[in-house]
Amino acid sequence: MDVSDLRREYMLAGLDERHLPPEPIAQFRAWLAEAVAADPLDPTAMTLATADAAGRPSARVLLLKGYDERGFVFFTNYGSRKARELAANAHAAMVFHWPAFDRQVRIEGVVEKTSRAESAAYFATRPLPSQLSAWASRQSEPAGGRAELEAAQAQAGERFAGGEVPVPDFWGGAGRRRLDRRAVAALKARAARPRTSRERTPRPMSASPRLPVAVVGSCIMDFCVSVPRLPRLGENVIASGLRVAHGGKGANQAVALARLGAAPRLIASVGDDDFGRSFRTMLRDEGVGVDLVGTSTVPTGIGVPMILGGGENAIVVALGAAMSLRPEAVGAARREIAAASALLLQLEVPLDSAITAMAIARGAGVEVFLNAAPIVEGAEAACRAADVLVVNETEAEALAGGGIGDGVESALRASADLHRLGPPVVVVTLGERGAVWSAGAGLGTARGAVWSGGVRRCETERGGFVPGFRVAAVDPTGAGDAFCAGLVWSRIHGVAWRPAVELANACGALAATAVGAMTALPDRAAAEALVASGERWSAAGR
Ligand code: ADP
Repeated sequence: MDVSDLRREYMLAGLDERHLPPEPIAQFRAWLAEAVAADPLDPTAMTLATADAAGRPSARVLLLKGYDERGFVFFTNYGSRKARELAANAHAAMVFHWPAFDRQVRIEGVVEKTSRAESAAYFATRPLPSQLSAWASRQSEPAGGRAELEAAQAQAGERFAGGEVPVPDFWGGAGRRRLDRRAVAALKARAARPRTSRERTPRPMSASPRLPVAVVGSCIMDFCVSVPRLPRLGENVIASGLRVAHGGKGANQAVALARLGAAPRLIASVGDDDFGRSFRTMLRDEGVGVDLVGTSTVPTGIGVPMILGGGENAIVVALGAAMSLRPEAVGAARREIAAASALLLQLEVPLDSAITAMAIARGAGVEVFLNAAPIVEGAEAACRAADVLVVNETEAEALAGGGIGDGVESALRASADLHRLGPPVVVVTLGERGAVWSAGAGLGTARGAVWSGGVRRCETERGGFVPGFRVAAVDPTGAGDAFCAGLVWSRIHGVAWRPAVELANACGALAATAVGAMTALPDRAAAEALVASGERWSAAGR
């Protein structure tokens, strides 16, 4: 075989600098998401080239474990050849190759160790066997054979039996590539230049693949009843209508994302019962990935939304199997979370599972959207790990620790106040009035840009009120879920905050136009049509 005969035409879209976002990391994020969607086989694999003190190069393939505007992170044993070479010569190069798109991204710069805390945080998310093998192996040194390695691993297993496995001193820490100005320029200028003599036109946006979103949450079967009023203690109120529908914030948000055109994957737990099976079928039919939906011995959760005339409701929920989602099950989904464009979660799952998912996402540079609903004990701890916090007024009040007052101005103040819990961006939804958003004051960067979730976007606005849409609302159940999906969809597609909240408002409003959470979850065309021509709420027009 003559290898020089093996060639093909590089026909895919070319790269035009005018179409690149100002921040190269945003381009990288979008391309990585496309690569993940197109080919699930090691899309985060990259070649890392280092050189020893004498300039002799070596290269190997590693998996990327995180990235943000500061750089690209991988983990290694500090005794490995690459770590020793980097200690002697911190300059290195990294290449990602995504043949499905005729793309490569080259990054060059200086590598430094991450903090001990960062290494430990990542180490804690690794599966137990990987943790033990980190203790057992001295990477790149001739091992005494498989048997010796297995014995060392078993020894490590005994040493840490029953407890947490700490990060070894000689392991991890990570190489963080600091993107200096030159490296940024290199990424921008050199990314994805396929070799071909042909002129090619960039691919239109509409052809963009469905971006993956990890959703951690609940599946609840809703028994929606229409009632003239809420029952008093000891009273029976006869409902005028009964409708059984799939619901639960996790399932609602995942379906809402799928209808908007994303590729959500739900990490959840359902019962070994008809409801659980029905959820799997429904989710699959809607285009939601269900391979990470586990089965519990506890029955699938149920809810009773009581719908009052005038579009208001009150809900009783028994979470059932949703509370069986263990942190271990979330940990088993680390690969899928790390590869997602965003993580979206609510608090109808055990708090420690939610926090595990958030730690994995943050470690991988995945933006975390927390819809802190319902407010459960310890919800503040979850807020700390969120990049974007979305709450309604009741939840905002609970998190703020007291009355936030009524009206848009008070909601704006509350959203700004909630930054103290940790999230750089806070969104408070206000029912038919719309929503307010706030990007923390500490986030200001050059030229007033707002920095969120590791991607710096050129936005000069730091927050504000975005009025909702006037619709014939009949049941607001699921409006908040549709809102969250609209917000996430917009943000992973690089939409600025105000229009993102606007599209989210449109999704929420449309969801309120039919009884049941999922019935009226809109697709993107319907939401965009409402944004284009819908009537906005105004205090005067009430
Ligand atoms: P939740 O459902 O979580 O309590 P909200 O009631 O605040 O949250 O609703 C979420 C979003 O849905 C609102 O910000 C708004 O955009 C939209 N929405 C809700 N109810 C209505 C309504 N009656 N008319 C128009 N939009 C609505």
